[in-house]
Amino acid sequence: MKRTLVALLLASCSVKSPPARYDHPYTGRLEVRHVPRQVAEDICPFSRGATGWGCAFLRTSSCLIILVEGASPEVLQHEIAHCNGWPGDHTP
Ligand SMILES: [Zn+2]
Repeated sequence: MKRTLVALLLASCSVKSPPARYDHPYTGRLEVRHVPRQVAEDICPFSRGATGWGCAFLRTSSCLIILVEGASPEVLQHEIAHCNGWPGDHTP
């Protein structure tokens, strides 16, 4: 079975504001899960040594966002931008 799961990572401990073209509501099916930090670290491909607050798993027409409990609204905004196609390396 073909799996198309693209993991995008939050590579920095500071939450970057997304570029304007990715900074809008996601139009597909969006699922957001708030999980304890330990669970997020198991699920998300956080870079070693970096503190991550969330990650986004982009599928064909849906997007799953994992957020550490207590993550700020800016983290959600950041991850939604990944759902909208913002590359994981945070290029503008
Ligand atoms: Zn990111």
